[in-house]
Amino acid sequence: MFGKILIANRGEIALRIIRAARELEVDTVCVYSEADANAPWLELADETVCIGKAPSSESYLRIDRIISAAEMTDSDAIHPGYGFLAENAHFASVCRDCEIEFIGPSPEAMGLLGDKINCKRLAKKAGTPIFPGTDGEIEELDEAVKVASEIGYPVIVKATAGGGGKGMRIARNVAGLRTAVTAAQQEAIASFGNGAVYLEKFLESARHIEVQVLGDKHGNAVHLFNRDCTSQRRHQKLIEEGPAPGVSPEIRDRVCASAAELIRKANYSGAATVEFLMNKEQEFFMLEVNTRVQVEHPVTEMITGVDIVKESICVAAGEPLSWKQEDIRLNGHAIECRLNAEDPSNNFMPQPGIIETWQLAGGPGVRIESHVRPNYRIPPNYDSMIGKLIVHGRNRDEAIARMRAALGEMKIGPIATTIPLQQRLLTHHAFVSADFDINWVERLLDE
Ligand code: ADP
Repeated sequence: MFGKILIANRGEIALRIIRAARELEVDTVCVYSEADANAPWLELADETVCIGKAPSSESYLRIDRIISAAEMTDSDAIHPGYGFLAENAHFASVCRDCEIEFIGPSPEAMGLLGDKINCKRLAKKAGTPIFPGTDGEIEELDEAVKVASEIGYPVIVKATAGGGGKGMRIARNVAGLRTAVTAAQQEAIASFGNGAVYLEKFLESARHIEVQVLGDKHGNAVHLFNRDCTSQRRHQKLIEEGPAPGVSPEIRDRVCASAAELIRKANYSGAATVEFLMNKEQEFFMLEVNTRVQVEHPVTEMITGVDIVKESICVAAGEPLSWKQEDIRLNGHAIECRLNAEDPSNNFMPQPGIIETWQLAGGPGVRIESHVRPNYRIPPNYDSMIGKLIVHGRNRDEAIARMRAALGEMKIGPIATTIPLQQRLLTHHAFVSADFDINWVERLLDE
């Protein structure tokens, strides 16, 4: 096991990693920006190193400074958390060159799965369900037109290097397809320096369902069942739950096993999430693979008992996975609400400033992941998430009731949060009956 790890992140995920490391008796180094100089989680780290000014481009994204901090403190490994450098294959390879273990996949596995065309090709071999579409990059417009007429409109043109929704265009007919391909290529070159685009079927109404997987360096991979993250606004998840309701156990097990097979084929070690869209007929189509721990990982921890963060530190240190697939059992239902400092009644305006009141929910099956304490000042420079509220229940009904009660106990002020919106969603019949799609929250907000 490592003696010391450096955490190249901030906020709740930095705290989550500190806690996992402490249990493993591994020392921690937290790097921080000037905006986080008085941050509460730093008090729990064994060492801290300031790496620059508030903007993340001057601190949390500075590979040179993070590596220097790791060398200065004799850290054996770096945990990137999520966001910032977590999916940066160059960073992972710099770590390797400097003989510092990157807690996550190898740069090769990350590069392979991060390229959407290559990822789709590998998924096909692994038996992971994918969208019908072009086999690879669109070389000739005529070929795209032919494929689109075979699979039927609407179709979506996507950049292989895509991320953050950039380089995507929907086309509903031939004329639209021609402009979509050119527009997507141009946007892909501008955003990613790689103009390769491909085409696939566009699903009008779908649910977002994802599979949590874990791999090690010995060729083992397991899945930890699925999560539903259909309740989103502008592609930002608001509520996540697991297991995904309304998916038959046979289909669920088949899709989950295929996701584990995909990361096994990619020689992947660490935590990953294979994202899918699912239609009303319970057909699954892979969207992409996220090559890092995700915000919503506690949902899975609550229903499986697997500590995903601890497990990923152990596999990075070279240990085999401590779980076999047959030992991973589903237990009850879990729901997570992301607590964002945003005002839903004012166009989700971010709410930087001091949190004076911070009174939390509690009781059986209630878990809070947050770096906040009373009088914490939210810096304006980063993500607006101030914590996560997770509940576990015997079944979905109990989890919903528990989440409603827990949200009602939360007292946060004077800043506004997304809690009133989540309370509304959790009592809506569409959520309660899981009869929803990825646009349902936005439709509700438009009403
Ligand atoms: P990015 O990496 O840019 O986030 P994704 O492939 O994850 O790109 O797609 C982002 C979002 O676009 C998805 O969450 C989904 O809402 C929508 N989307 C992507 N592909 C399709 C598709 N084939 N059909 C319907 N919606 C899609």
